[in-house]
Amino acid sequence: MEQRPVSPETLAAQALGEVDPVSGGLVPVINPSTTYEQQTDGAYLQDRAYTRADNPTFEHSERLLAALEGAGCACALFASGMAAATAVFQSLLPGDHVLVSRVLYWGVRKWLAEFALSWGLDVEFTDTTDPAVLAAAIRPGRTRLLWVETPANPMWEITDLAAVCELAHSAGVRVAADNTVATPVLTRPFEHGADVVVHSATKYLNGHSDVLAGAVLSVRQDPFWERIRSWRRNSGAVLGPFEAWLLQRGMRTLFLRVERACQTALAIATHFHDHPSLRAVLYPGLPSHPGHQVAARQMNGGFGGMLSIRLAGGTEQAKAVLRAVRVFKRATSLGGVESLIEHRAATEGPSSPVPGDLLRLSIGIEAAADLIADLDAALDTAAAVPAAPAARREPGP
Ligand code: PLP
Repeated sequence: MEQRPVSPETLAAQALGEVDPVSGGLVPVINPSTTYEQQTDGAYLQDRAYTRADNPTFEHSERLLAALEGAGCACALFASGMAAATAVFQSLLPGDHVLVSRVLYWGVRKWLAEFALSWGLDVEFTDTTDPAVLAAAIRPGRTRLLWVETPANPMWEITDLAAVCELAHSAGVRVAADNTVATPVLTRPFEHGADVVVHSATKYLNGHSDVLAGAVLSVRQDPFWERIRSWRRNSGAVLGPFEAWLLQRGMRTLFLRVERACQTALAIATHFHDHPSLRAVLYPGLPSHPGHQVAARQMNGGFGGMLSIRLAGGTEQAKAVLRAVRVFKRATSLGGVESLIEHRAATEGPSSPVPGDLLRLSIGIEAAADLIADLDAALDTAAAVPAAPAARREPGP
């Protein structure tokens, strides 16, 4: 009888279920060797010569993540999410036109602003949530890459992956999706047509705020993929084996953590969406969110653990909420087991397009009631701060 394929949850929980052939251990060994013995005939035992190119510990984590993203894709881990993202852009050629979601993680935006021009890339930011706007922005024969982040930091705009992939592919444009926030638990971009998937594995994949890591996955092992792998090898942007080992351990609980974060984020968004101190709660799980319908179709079983709140009283009230929280941790980043709150505009600096009244929340796995009570109390405390004059409620991003 043919064996029934196991589900991604099972693959994740067992980190592919492989047993160490030497000890019989259920947990993989860490292989820290930077170099490998050459045989007398010049060959290498498993074709590995030096760890900047290959290492069994990070290869195991790569196989696990590839299994979770599906579609028979290939995966390369990087030293950080930024190393992964920039490897994709640096594998393009001078003169290539690139379209990028106008709302996206600011680190990628900043890197593009500082380095893309000197790399010869022609980068254009566009509204990928509107297929008509995207269609008009594509330059047939010149546009080589569409970079999409969904849900997008920190307004949580939703891009319809299937729609933009169809548009892009009809013009011969490759699509890369930053899947950091949705994770393969909620969205598997290859199933919607994406060619490349990127992760900051620092976030949900690892999930414990103790590993910096990134990943690029490709549905095809074509010359573009070879350039990305070659970039990693030659620039040395590889993940160390200890981090790779921690990452596989983190990924074992990915489904539990993401499901819990989704439930709590939805509970928080629902509890606060008509709070008098807030002008908006930005969360794709709310029916009032402009991307809700697409998210409901594209995000399987939840709307993610990230949301933002905008204070009716403006920047000063937002900062007062930040000072008043006791359970939420005041910190940047996302996707860890502890809930974080952050004044995004302050983190991003003076060039940030993020409104000063916005606080970004990353929901962890604590008791939902504790987080709601904390935010309720902090909003009460902040209500004593005088409101900015022109503040009014707005429905969504
Ligand atoms: N992509 C997204 C959506 C992110 O949120 C981040 C980091 O916050 C990155 C990429 C960059 O990842 P890293 O911090 O691991 O370099």
